Formats: sequence, structure tokens, C-alpha cells
Amino acid sequence: MSFVKTSEVTKKVSGLSEPEAEARTGQGTDWTGLVWLTLIVAAGLTTFERLEHFLFPHLDSPQHQAVTVCVGTIAAVVGTYYATRRLDRVLSMHSQAEKKLALERNVLRTVTDNIPDSIFAKDKNGRYLLANKAFAKLHGMKSPDDLLGKTVFDLFPEERAAELYKDDLQVMKSGGAIMETERTAVDASGKLKVLQTTKVPLLDGDEAIVGIVGLHRDITRRKEAEHRLRQSEANLAAAQRIAHFGSVELDLVNLEEPEKNPVRWSDEVFRIFGLEPGVEEPSRQAFFRLVHPDEKEEVRQSLDYALREAKPYAIDFKIIRPDGAQRNIHERGDIIFDPKTRKPMKLVASVQDVTDRVQAELQLQRANQELAEKVQELEQRSTEITLLSEMGSLLQTCKDAEEAYLQISAAAEKLFPKWSGTLSITTASRTAVETVADWGQAVPGERVFAPDDCWALRRGQPQLYRRGEKASACRHIDLTGVTESLCVPFMAQGEALGIVSLQMRAGQEQPEPASRPSREAERRLAAVLVEQVALSLGNLRLRESLRNQSICDPLTGLFNRRYMEESLEREFSRAHRNKSSVAIIMMDIDHFKRFNDTFGHQAGDTLLRILGDFLKKNTRGQDIACRYGGEEFALVLTDSNLAGALQRAEMLRQQVQQLSVEYAGQLLGSVRVSIGVALFPDHGATMGEVLRASDQALYRAKREGRDRVSSWTAEPVV
Ligand code: GH3
Ligand code: MG
Ligand code: MG
Repeated sequence: MSFVKTSEVTKKVSGLSEPEAEARTGQGTDWTGLVWLTLIVAAGLTTFERLEHFLFPHLDSPQHQAVTVCVGTIAAVVGTYYATRRLDRVLSMHSQAEKKLALERNVLRTVTDNIPDSIFAKDKNGRYLLANKAFAKLHGMKSPDDLLGKTVFDLFPEERAAELYKDDLQVMKSGGAIMETERTAVDASGKLKVLQTTKVPLLDGDEAIVGIVGLHRDITRRKEAEHRLRQSEANLAAAQRIAHFGSVELDLVNLEEPEKNPVRWSDEVFRIFGLEPGVEEPSRQAFFRLVHPDEKEEVRQSLDYALREAKPYAIDFKIIRPDGAQRNIHERGDIIFDPKTRKPMKLVASVQDVTDRVQAELQLQRANQELAEKVQELEQRSTEITLLSEMGSLLQTCKDAEEAYLQISAAAEKLFPKWSGTLSITTASRTAVETVADWGQAVPGERVFAPDDCWALRRGQPQLYRRGEKASACRHIDLTGVTESLCVPFMAQGEALGIVSLQMRAGQEQPEPASRPSREAERRLAAVLVEQVALSLGNLRLRESLRNQSICDPLTGLFNRRYMEESLEREFSRAHRNKSSVAIIMMDIDHFKRFNDTFGHQAGDTLLRILGDFLKKNTRGQDIACRYGGEEFALVLTDSNLAGALQRAEMLRQQVQQLSVEYAGQLLGSVRVSIGVALFPDHGATMGEVLRASDQALYRAKREGRDRVSSWTAEPVV
């Protein structure tokens, strides 16, 4: 609240100053001096007249008067001259003051007319006393003079004018208070402007209110700038909110004690921290209360390092919001230096909630890992399929089971590189299971065991054992050092052929316990392996039995005649090459018809079987024993001469005689045989000739009384 006196206003507006005051003071002094001069001159003249009469008594009155007039005239001339000089001086000073005043008024006018603000003064009745060019232009007037004597009612619509006049009255009534208002107004060119108006009372020399002085300031651009600033602040806040991106400012007033530096957080920082803006005071302590306990120290060190070294930083850490939610934060900041002193002035940092991104990255990482595992698994499967298929085709070419066992163990070793294992086969009698192949580390435990000792064989399905689960362990496995085992049975033609048993031993395991899917995969692989094994071994068995059927006699188990003939061809050509000889011993049971008739056909069969077993046992590895037909048997002795063959034949005859044949709990009589011997190439050049020769020799033995051995002779048998 302040008052502006008219004189002061005038002084301020016109810029009047000391020289004028001096001029006024000087002018007053000169006039007084002039009066004093006149009085002194008058007093001097009077005194001079008295002195003249006293000094010049001889002068008559007219002379006295003449002298007085002369002296008076001189005094008047001198006085006038002096007074005129004084007056000139006064007038010159006055004129200078006037000029200075005019100059200052011009300065004032120039200033008021050229400043962008509108200035006006009104009298008590609201009539314009004064206005500058800006004010005139605002109201579309050519000259400020056009406004003089007008009121707001001449310039504005009634309602607006009344409002403005009311303000004027209020300013005058208020006893001197300044009124400041902000209003929008449309200027002469139709543009909307925002005006800030200041009005103060106008006082005269007696400090009586005689009107108002006002000033309009066009704050349109400032307002627009403020609006734009507010808008961009709002946009920034919205962008921060959308991007979960907040900003932190730290005034570095105390580098020794970071806690004492004032901190500002943007609204988004509060939101990221799960705090209510305005409720919690932003501070370093409040921040560290939120940082995850495991990361507090690391974050503190990073921040302190950045402050101490005045360097940029970037940190990732977790916070726990007051509601317990955990969020991932990425913060990066930099130091702002004072441009003059180059001292750190401020730390500015961005705070970003990257939880979603971190989660997505984690998921991606997991997905990648799973994918890599799947690819690895697929590669593994592909390798396994290749190994299995190779094993399958190799098994196809195996001639016998022994070869097959070798192929199976070689493939299993590659398929289960971390396991030790065995292949065990059920014996023909099905009373035992025999381990026929193994791989990996040597597997202790029973190599021949009862089928009941294996849960997999008993249950007909895979059996898995893990250390500590005694109940599921098979008895045939020596559990010392075994952490896991897997037995998988395999079947063919409805019967259990055997098992593949895998064992994981301590020290063989993977660094981490194998996951369930991996074990499951191994179990599946083992199942596929045994399927292949079952198929191949089953086929081999079938093939063997078919082959046996085609070359063996079903009753005695000896080779049949067809096989013998095939073998003879082979042996004769080899003997021919080697210049060696082959003997044929042809044996026929004496009076077998009678035996059949006496004891029955079944007993006859039993005798044939017993004789077959005897011959099998009494033939050397390279010799061939076969049932040539009915009750006739043949023995092919390779690399044999006639004497040796005859000796052998005789020995067989005698041994057969010793055979005891028991049927239905009854001992049957002794068996006698007649034998004919022929030699290749001595007794025939072809198989037919030699067979015929042996037949002939047998016939001779029969004819000569049976129960004897005869050799082929050249003389014809009658
Ligand atoms: P020989 O001393 O002259 O050889 O007299 P044999 O009775 O042994 O000879 P024969 O040729 O007269 O009779 C052979 C008999 O063998 C006729 C047949 O009933 C019998 N036989 C042939 N094959 C079998 C067979 O598989 N089982 C049984 N039980 N008997 C058979
Ligand atoms: Mg016969
Ligand atoms: Mg006979």
C-alpha cells in the first residue's frame, strides 16, 4: 500500500530535479537584494543630502538640489544598471530551467510513448487526463489527445465500462491502495490480449485524491509462455507416467554428508516407489528404506562413488514397495557442474521401472534355455534313432545269438554312456536267467539268477530303483555303490526272453541329479532298445528253430538225411582238395520190427531217442551224426581212414550194446546193431557210390549174422 502525491507523480513523471529548485531559490534572493539596494540607495541619498549641507554650507539651495539630482541620477543609473544585470541573470536562469523542464517533459513523453505498457491518468470523474501512445493504440485511437476528456463509457460496452469504473472508484476510495488485476481484452485489431493492470490513486499537492493513474501491461506472451510451460510440464509428467520413467534431482550442497543434500522426486518416482506424492518427504533415507536389503550396500557404493568422483553412473537394483511388491529399477544419473566454479552442483538421475522388461527378458531366457534343451534333446533323440537303426540292421545280419549279444552291448554302451549295463537271457528251461553281455563299468552281482530275482521279469514291466528305496531293488543286482538302476524286460512270442539292466553307480552320475524328464527319456529309450532286442533275438530264435526243423530229425534231434547229403557233398570236395578221406558208418538196429511188436511203437520211439542221444554225445565236433531213415543211422567221419573208421564202428557197436533202455518204468532188452563202413574216395568217387557202398557193407553185416561191423568189399554180395 502506498500513496503517490501529485507533486511526486509530477516529479516522477516529469523527472524534475535539483537545477529547477536551485533556479527558484536564486530568483527569490535577487529580488530581495534589489529591494535592499533600493533602500540603501534611498538611505544613501538622504544621508548624502544631509552631509552636503554640512560639508558644503556655501552652496545655495538650487546648487544643493542640482548636486543632489546629479548624485541621485548617478545612483539611479548605477542602481538600474546593477538591477538590470541582476534581472538578466534571473531571466537567463529561468529560461534555462524552462528549457530543461521542456527537455525532461520530452524525455518523459518519449519514454511513455515508446514503452510497450499503456499508461493513463483519469480525474475523479473518470475522464482521461493523460494517455500514452500505447494506450491510444490499444483503443484504436490515432493520438493520445483523442482520448482526453473521454471516459471508459466511451470506449467499452456499458457492462464492462461499469466494471472498470467501479474499480477506479474503489482505488480512489481505498485511500491509496494499489490495485492489480488481470483481464483479457480484445485490442483494436481484434486480437485477444491478457492485460495486467495496476491502478493507484492520483493525489494533488495537498494530498487530496484527484483521480487515478493506471498502467496496463500486455502479459499475453508471458501467459502463453506460462501456458506452454504448464502444458509441457504436464506432457513430461504424462510421458514419465506412461514410460514408468521418473526423475530425481539432488542439490549437492554437502558432499561430505550426502543425507543432508535436498532431494526432489518427480511424481512418477513416487509412483514407481509405491508412495503417495506429497505424503512422503523425498530423501536419501526414504530411498534406501525401499532398496532390497540384498542390494542396499551395492547401490550405496555406486551412488557414493558417483558423488565422490563426480562421474555418471547406471545401476540396476530391486526395491520393495511399502505394499510388499518387488520391482526392478534401472537408474542412471550424471553430475551437473557449476559453469563458473566447475564444482559439482547437482545430481540429476532418471529412475525407470523395468520390471516388465526384466520379467520378459527372464521369460525369453527361460524360453531360449528350454528351446536349447529341446534342440539338444532332439539331437540326442536323432543320435539315438541312428544308433538304434544301425543296431537293428546289424542285428539282421547276425548269424547267431552270440553275435547279436555283442552288437546289442556295443549299441547300449553308446546309447547309455553314463550307465553300466547287462543283457541277461532266460535259459531254454526258463528256470534261470543268464547274463550274456555287459558294458560300461564292470557290474558286480549274480551272472546267473532265478527269474524271480528280477522284479521286471516278474511283473513284465520296467523296474526303476533309486538309492534308499530298498523295496524296489532287484535281488540280482549288487547294490553296493549303485545309486539308480533300471531293469526292462523283453518278450518274444509271448515269453520273457530276458532283461536289459542299467545301473548308475556313485561317481558316474551327472553333477546335478538328473531331472525327471531326462530319466523318463532314458526309460523310454531303454524300452525302445529292448523292443529291438526282443525282436531281433526272437527272430534269431525263430530262424534257428526253423533251420533246425529243416535239417534235424524231430524225434532224435540228429541231423536228417537231407542235411547229411548236403554235408557229404561239401566234405567230399574238401577231402578231394586235401587228398584226405571221409568214412561213412551206416548203422541199423537189428530186429527192430520185433522190438516194436513186443514193446509197442512208443517204446520203439524211446529207443530211437536214446540211441540218438548216445550218438550225439559220442561224435567229435567235426563229425556228423544223422538219422538216415527209420531205424537206420549214419555217421560221417572226416579225415578218417578205413581202419580208424572200422575201429570206431566196432566201439560204437559195443557201447550201444551196453545201453539200458527203460520205458514206462520197465527195462527193455539190450540193443544190437549191424554196421557197414565205406570210404571216400576208396569205395566210390561220388556220394551216391559211397552211400551205396556203405549200404552194401551193412547188408553184408546183416547177412553174416547181424550184431557186427562190415567193410565194403569189391566182391558182390549175394
Ligand atoms: P533187420 O534186423 O533185418 O533190420 O530187421 P528189422 O525188423 O529191424 O527190419 P525191418 O526193415 O523188417 O523193419 C524195420 C522196422 O522199423 C519197420 C518199422 O515198423 C520200424 N520203424 C521204422 N521207423 C520207425 C519209427 O520211427 N518208430 C518206430 N517205433 N518204429 C519204426
Ligand atoms: Mg532197416
Ligand atoms: Mg533193422
